[in-house]
Amino acid sequence: MSGGATPMMEQYFALKREAGDCLLFYRMGDFFELFFDDARAASQVLDIALTSRGEHGGAPIPMCGVPVHSAEGYLARLIKAGCRVAIAEQVESPDQAKARGGSKALVKRDIVRFVTAGTLTEEALLEPRRANVLAAVCEVRGSIGIAACDISTGRMELEECAADALGAALARLGASELVAPEEWEAAPEGYIARARSHFASDEGEARLKALHAVAALDAYGEFTRAMLAAAGGLIAYLDHVGRGSLPFLLPPVARSGGERLAMDEATRSSLEILTSQQGGRQGSLIAAIDRCVTGAGARQLADDLSAPLTDAAQIEARLALVQFFHDDPLLRADLREVLRASPDIGRALGRIVAGRGSPRDLGQVRDGLSEARRIGDFLQRSTDRPALLDALLPRLGGHGALTDHLSRALVPSPPTERSQGGFVAEGYDHALDELRAISGNARRAIAALEARYRDETGIAALKIRHNGVLGYFIEVPAKHADRLMAPDSGFTHRQTMAGAVRFNSLQLHEEASRIAEAGGHALAAEEAHFEELAGEVIAAREAIAATAAALARIDVAAGLAERAAEGNWCRPEISADRLLDVKGGRHPVVEAALAGSGERFVANDCCLVPNDRLWLVGGPNMGGKSTFLRQNALIVLLAQAGSFVPASGAVVGLVDRLFSRVGASDNLARGRSTFMVEMVETAAILAQATERSFVILDEVGRGTSTYDGLALAWAVVEAVHTAIRCRCLFATHFHELARLAETCDALSLHHVRAREWKGDLVLLHELAEGPADRSYGLAVARLAGVPKDVVARAKAVLDRLEAGRRETGGLAAGLGDLPLFAATGVDEEQAGDALRERLEKLDADTLTPREALELVYELKRLALATDG
Ligand code: ADP
Repeated sequence: MSGGATPMMEQYFALKREAGDCLLFYRMGDFFELFFDDARAASQVLDIALTSRGEHGGAPIPMCGVPVHSAEGYLARLIKAGCRVAIAEQVESPDQAKARGGSKALVKRDIVRFVTAGTLTEEALLEPRRANVLAAVCEVRGSIGIAACDISTGRMELEECAADALGAALARLGASELVAPEEWEAAPEGYIARARSHFASDEGEARLKALHAVAALDAYGEFTRAMLAAAGGLIAYLDHVGRGSLPFLLPPVARSGGERLAMDEATRSSLEILTSQQGGRQGSLIAAIDRCVTGAGARQLADDLSAPLTDAAQIEARLALVQFFHDDPLLRADLREVLRASPDIGRALGRIVAGRGSPRDLGQVRDGLSEARRIGDFLQRSTDRPALLDALLPRLGGHGALTDHLSRALVPSPPTERSQGGFVAEGYDHALDELRAISGNARRAIAALEARYRDETGIAALKIRHNGVLGYFIEVPAKHADRLMAPDSGFTHRQTMAGAVRFNSLQLHEEASRIAEAGGHALAAEEAHFEELAGEVIAAREAIAATAAALARIDVAAGLAERAAEGNWCRPEISADRLLDVKGGRHPVVEAALAGSGERFVANDCCLVPNDRLWLVGGPNMGGKSTFLRQNALIVLLAQAGSFVPASGAVVGLVDRLFSRVGASDNLARGRSTFMVEMVETAAILAQATERSFVILDEVGRGTSTYDGLALAWAVVEAVHTAIRCRCLFATHFHELARLAETCDALSLHHVRAREWKGDLVLLHELAEGPADRSYGLAVARLAGVPKDVVARAKAVLDRLEAGRRETGGLAAGLGDLPLFAATGVDEEQAGDALRERLEKLDADTLTPREALELVYELKRLALATDG
């Protein structure tokens, strides 16, 4: 395609081939330029002018450009819009190019970096309160390996899960970029395809070992083949994006499924944990509880809420720390004030390790580590410290030598620009001080020179000035220039401008050379100091990251304590029993929203125990059923994340999986048939929930016809009650379900109360025992402004229907004779033929001879079992 192209275009095409589907930023002097389709795309996203430069194949070449000095802002917008960008820099100067290839030689350019959503480190491009996750996934023999990292802080996690749990795992990670092997049918949506060969477990293992300079990974944990294969894919991608230089990665942590409260994507979105259903943070759980004063704390809190714990001891440890800060408001206030002012050392460290650090980042590490030590000393003084705090305290100190060195070496607030120097403190390097003195003296000499020349020439308007092209020069207004033009004046002419003429002189030249030479040496000296200091920080990176993590954990606990004190929350009691006993529970988000309009939230109790573990909640629309269901799910989630909870008392029996489902009509904005979605999600509960799970089902069955819906709701309640036997809250408007109480002994009926008063409906939002007395549908319609005559007509129809119901026994007539759920065999469809199922699942092509032999034995065993 580059036939007949200019050398520059040929170079461009070569780079563009390397850049693949990334936009190519092609450096031209002070601009990055984009051409062809890249230019069209970028000019749209950035709303900048699309012009053209030269011709290619007879047509003008579309072009747009952004100035190098403000490129970061443009990059941020392109990344937000889902683009990836390859940066092609000039890797030699024009002089070097000329020396190499003559006067017409083209400056050599190379892609120095890819900028992608998952591999950012720049402060301006990252959100301070959100982790930025890059993930790689692949499949090894039926298991899914996931490798995830946040290179802005170095965190790296590996996990393995079954194929059907991938969606939930990815929902938890919330990655901003995802890579997977090419041509993988089961790959998640929106992934970036990479060569299959990168996702090899031995490759991954070798790369991890090399990265951390260890002979074996055992010290970091146990990693499966699938985890290592994913790690291989992840590191290969980072290597590609960084053009051979790897970013900051801490040793990997193995995460196993059972350690965390499992929640699938539907549950996360319906509970609105990190984002509300409108898509933003506003209205989410985290927005209602985050009182962290540092970005690192907010990121840790998001992580805690995304993956609550299941281990009682770990939960108690976190709760004890929250309690400690809760009980001492003065200590908490002091601590939070210091924390608020401390910089984000985790991310500064990430930039330094990635080779993109600035003097300001070194200053942040210095200040952050000093603050950490102060905080450590200050907390050390308090008595009755909880165990978790004692474990964290040692991680706050131990950087004395490094912070001393940084303090001596750097000025108090170092600049973000490294190439201009000016960040090394006076007195740190005598040679540098001398160089600075030389340029200082020379500058003063130049000022003196100016005064002397004015005197000698009698031209009061004479000035000595400086610009990038000429360096220092003497300038006089044109009308005085003749005097200086005289051959014996001591001045040499340099440039004639519209109203002024510029000159040089021997003395000025000498002083200017002194400045230039000393300045150059000083810059080189500062650069060397920067490298040395950065090297020291990099050498201590794991300890610094540990300090950052400890500070974040402390900020989270103090923030949760603040939130608890603000809202009068209580410390939950964690129990091993299968119960949930909440007194005076509230929904933090709804309560906050009501408070905004001056309304009060009505607190409600919830008590699920093994012999009363399923509550059916009825009552009118808008009565508060959903709110009640969700507040209890959130209380479980908060408690297991180690937070106090919005209630006056709570005993939370540990939950292994949390499920939340909302009936279809609340959930319209999706492509698939909403009822289909509802059933797929319900099926997942029936397949995955265990006795230890907690399930909330909100109007399930509503998305289809009344008969289908009631029948399905009935069957689902029975299955949850009798087969799964987990704790469950089920909100429904089907009155008929109340009859389930007759056959399900651990099910009880509840409703949200309402009253009609002078013809108006009053919703009390108060939970009461027993079935809902009536539906109030017409009263709700009136409340909503349906015209009076329509409501009156509906009343007449309703009376007729209800009369009919009394005569026939209604929708649920005959259900009393239905055999019990457990007794209903799965009949003619007979899904249970184990032998057949095993054979259907079999992939004969992948069997080794040995596996085939084992299979024969297994089939024999199955056949015997089925017969018996
Ligand atoms: P339902 O699920 O029964 O239709 P919702 O739970 O959606 O009702 O509640 C409807 C509205 O009622 C909420 O948006 C909120 O404003 C209010 N509400 C719900 N529960 C309470 C409560 N416990 N106290 C005060 N207001 C409440």
